[in-house]
Amino acid sequence: MTTCPVCGQRGIGKVGADQYYCWDCCVEFVVRNQNLKIFNVEADGTLTLYPDLMQSTVNLEVQKG
Ligand SMILES: [Zn+2]
Repeated sequence: MTTCPVCGQRGIGKVGADQYYCWDCCVEFVVRNQNLKIFNVEADGTLTLYPDLMQSTVNLEVQKG
């Protein structure tokens, strides 16, 4: 995963083992096996499921610290 699945830009940074952050559209996404989950990052730092692409079950894993 080298591009953002939302905006297609390459301005992403790795923030966890399978977790990335896009600086362009300010989303986080988690890639695990073939499973992609995308989250909006709210102003207070909480993650909310990105509404468009995700139809599957939610397994929220918020990493703090
Ligand atoms: Zn993006």
